[in-house]
Amino acid sequence: MFVLRNMTHDELERMIIALDEPKYRVNQIEDWLYKKAAGRIEEMKNLPKSLFAKLSECAVVTTSKIHQKLISTDGTLKYLLQFSDGNFVEMVLMRFDNRANLTACISSQIGCKMGCKFCHTAKQGFTRNLSAYEMVEQVLTIMQDTGLKVTNIVFMGQGEPFDNYDEVYKAIEILNTKLEIGIRRITVSTSGVVSRFNDYTSRKLLPTLAVSLHAPNDTIRDAIMPVNHRYPMDALKKAMIKFNEVTGKRITIEYILLERLNSTPQHAQELAEYLKDIKCNINLIPYNSGDKSDFIKPSHKTIQLFKLILEKSGKKVTQRLERGADIMAACGQLTGKYLNKN
Ligand code: SAH
Ligand code: SF4
Repeated sequence: MFVLRNMTHDELERMIIALDEPKYRVNQIEDWLYKKAAGRIEEMKNLPKSLFAKLSECAVVTTSKIHQKLISTDGTLKYLLQFSDGNFVEMVLMRFDNRANLTACISSQIGCKMGCKFCHTAKQGFTRNLSAYEMVEQVLTIMQDTGLKVTNIVFMGQGEPFDNYDEVYKAIEILNTKLEIGIRRITVSTSGVVSRFNDYTSRKLLPTLAVSLHAPNDTIRDAIMPVNHRYPMDALKKAMIKFNEVTGKRITIEYILLERLNSTPQHAQELAEYLKDIKCNINLIPYNSGDKSDFIKPSHKTIQLFKLILEKSGKKVTQRLERGADIMAACGQLTGKYLNKN
């Protein structure tokens, strides 16, 4: 059986030739697959009967299934998608007030090797990388299920995108060229795998870069993000400055606020000093605890003070909206819960 969503343009072309059909049918099929997010061959209405019959016999659009779908009171949707090998990934669709923008948060790996202490995905360990097609599949599944066009993508679900770099980049190319999602509307978030920065920085097709910093110094970062032992903050800073210089683009710095650990006024000052030479915006993320947790989310007052100090240093600071808290829409929570039950 051919699985159409897993096939390259060339592979589709070879299949079409083997089925004794003209090559241009491939474009029609790809149009259905990517622009119209068709979930079944029966939906491909403009295909001639002969091709339709042949395809129905030897191909399916996809073999993955929505295992669970949760709808938050704020409109956020969370999906648990099961691949044919039995593994699950999760993805989230966020609708912001401006309905024209629909942001899909997708996963790049099943589990993650990075072991960040505050992250639910880390607790699941690492199972395997996702292929580019499995990443695109997540976006198509959302479009197919909702009938809506996804306009923005963030690689902020499970996994470390820079630890599955080639497939993530291939997915970005497909999302940009075939689904026609603007490159600036795609964001890759990394925990700071510095070895990939050079290559990423040199790409012509360059999505927005977000760096999960979460600490103002190496002592704190070492304690909560093991990746920092391999790529300490000084090396990360150099890589970020080079990114600014070569691309002329800003970086989004993500910073989870954890009570006492990284969110005092002194921490804010130290962070401002570290970020002084980096062109960036800062996105503060109140810690999302899920069911059980080892950390505490700081009070509103602590968060506001932290924000103010950073703003005074001249940075643009935003606070991430807590979307879908009632359906555990933060990184790794749904799969974690499901796997714990089984
Ligand atoms: N591995 C990549 C991308 C996926 S995580 C990375 O770490 O950047 C996406 C974002 O969610 C990261 O900034 C991550 O640190 C954050 N995150 C993880 N666990 C969280 C939690 N419990 N509460 C709030 N944000 C969390
Ligand atoms: Fe992996 Fe990101 Fe979670 Fe760290 S925060 S364990 S890098 S998914």
